[in-house]
Amino acid sequence: PIQPLLPVVGADLRAPLAAGGDARYVNLDYAASAPALRAVADHVAEILPTYASVHRGAGYASQLSTQRYEDARASVARFVGARPDDVVVFTRNTTDALNLLAGCVPDGGEVVVLDLEHHANLLPWQRGPHRVVEAAPTLAQTLSRLQVELARRPAALLAVTGASNVTGEQLPLGALAGLAHRNGARIAVDAAQLAPHRRIDIVAGELDYVAFSGHKLYAPFGAGVLVGRRDWLDAAPPYLAGGGAVREVTTTATQWAPAPARHEGGSPNVIGAAALAAACEAVAALPEGCVEVHESALRRRLLAGLDRIEGVRTLRLWPDSASAVGVVAFTVDGYAARQVAEYLSEEHAIGVRDGRFCAHPLLARLGVDDGALRASFGLGSTSADVDRLLGAIERLVTEGTTRAYAVGADRPCD
Ligand code: PMP
Repeated sequence: PIQPLLPVVGADLRAPLAAGGDARYVNLDYAASAPALRAVADHVAEILPTYASVHRGAGYASQLSTQRYEDARASVARFVGARPDDVVVFTRNTTDALNLLAGCVPDGGEVVVLDLEHHANLLPWQRGPHRVVEAAPTLAQTLSRLQVELARRPAALLAVTGASNVTGEQLPLGALAGLAHRNGARIAVDAAQLAPHRRIDIVAGELDYVAFSGHKLYAPFGAGVLVGRRDWLDAAPPYLAGGGAVREVTTTATQWAPAPARHEGGSPNVIGAAALAAACEAVAALPEGCVEVHESALRRRLLAGLDRIEGVRTLRLWPDSASAVGVVAFTVDGYAARQVAEYLSEEHAIGVRDGRFCAHPLLARLGVDDGALRASFGLGSTSADVDRLLGAIERLVTEGTTRAYAVGADRPCD
């Protein structure tokens, strides 16, 4: 059996079943938000009693909090292999980080994106000059299309995801960085799905910007980061105008601070930053390659099992993409995705995501406008979790379900 790589909290949660009683809750929704690592939860419990204002107080608790906040920044920089002069800006999440970066692209600079992105890496760019390149039937053809587009007219930035939040497929970041740089553009990586699963190395990968969220990296909500080159961040207007982002203010003029303070207006989220950093430290301390081995084994087991079930179709972008993280999307013939998700929850205590995964253009490209299911896993996942899901879907397909589910009920995030 495949065991957890690291302990996570909530692993003993029991969920009610429609038939009565309860069962161990199987969390296969890590790609939405991963449970906190035990080490992260312990760290938060340890520092919670002594949090105080960061950068704003002379008292001992403020000194401690300021030190923790700046240590967290250093941990994040190490986690992504940042250059010494890169800036780490704490944000609320990846969406926030990418919106911040969108406001830092030099005036008139065009941004090139693929149409397979999560809305967080699509909509911020739509507010300025941008071009969307359609993904091609193969990864190699997609790279050629990007090359043509970047060479056709100069772009300031290529913004790509490190791994798809729908298919789990990874993008070849080294090749993409080369493509961008040869054509005079920078590269920004939406690493929301990559950071929890694969080592990121800004220097080795020649990446310019990286954004990710704590809550997908085994830390609680409220903290994310943008890491990258200082010049754009120092030249841009502050993301949030307010205390902490300034050097000197009169009623008529303001001298803004350089990044990161420039973009961190308001009282910093020291607990969020410290929790995110604790997660970075715990993940980085794992032996090289073991996360990939663990989740590849789970992924293979899930794909092989789904393949054996009649009427189940897994979604994939490209036949020639070599690597993928622990995210698998699929449909079940004869059932709406919502119906299957509710069946899994209510009859089997299994949590998966259904819908269009905040990637509407990609779902349309994959031909599933009405949504799909997504099972995703990580450090706390086991082969027993995967087997529970496979058994439940097998039962649905062979025996059906008599219960009526609230198919089509709207959720704010599809
Ligand atoms: N990019 C990708 C690839 C994602 O999967 C997500 C979250 N689903 C985001 C960006 C946005 O992350 P957040 O909601 O934490 O801002």
